[in-house]
Amino acid sequence: MTAADVQWGQGWDDRPIYPILTARLGRSVEVVAAAPALIVPTHWHEDQKRTLPCPGKARGCYLCDRIRARPKGYLAAWYGHGKKVVVEVTEGAMRALPELRTPACVGHWYRFERRGQRANGSLFVVVMERPGLSEYPLPHDIKPTLLTMWGLPD
Ligand SMILES: [Zn+2]
Repeated sequence: MTAADVQWGQGWDDRPIYPILTARLGRSVEVVAAAPALIVPTHWHEDQKRTLPCPGKARGCYLCDRIRARPKGYLAAWYGHGKKVVVEVTEGAMRALPELRTPACVGHWYRFERRGQRANGSLFVVVMERPGLSEYPLPHDIKPTLLTMWGLPD
């Protein structure tokens, strides 16, 4: 590649990228759900020390034979005074609170917290008693944020 190959002035993607919030020990995350969690089968990639989406066995996923793909949830949500964010939700938390996968969650307050000693300990979801929103804007599209996080092209 040379300077002539650089795509000068190209490549700007105007689609917004939202902060991804993950509850950590001692730092819970409180949000209003904007849409049902987007479910994505994933694998932990030990070599890269991160979670990446599973393309599926039919598409040649080399990990599926060795380890089950774990569904992860990505929740479009509002944080604070309406800041648009994405919250990562574990499989266990979604099992514990199935409404996160349905439109019933929209407009409701949830608090996500890590409990225990380990940084990757279980994620707990607390349904907040305060009322949710009665009117809310359309949910934001979180796919560009996720693709950017995973380093994947569209
Ligand atoms: Zn797989």
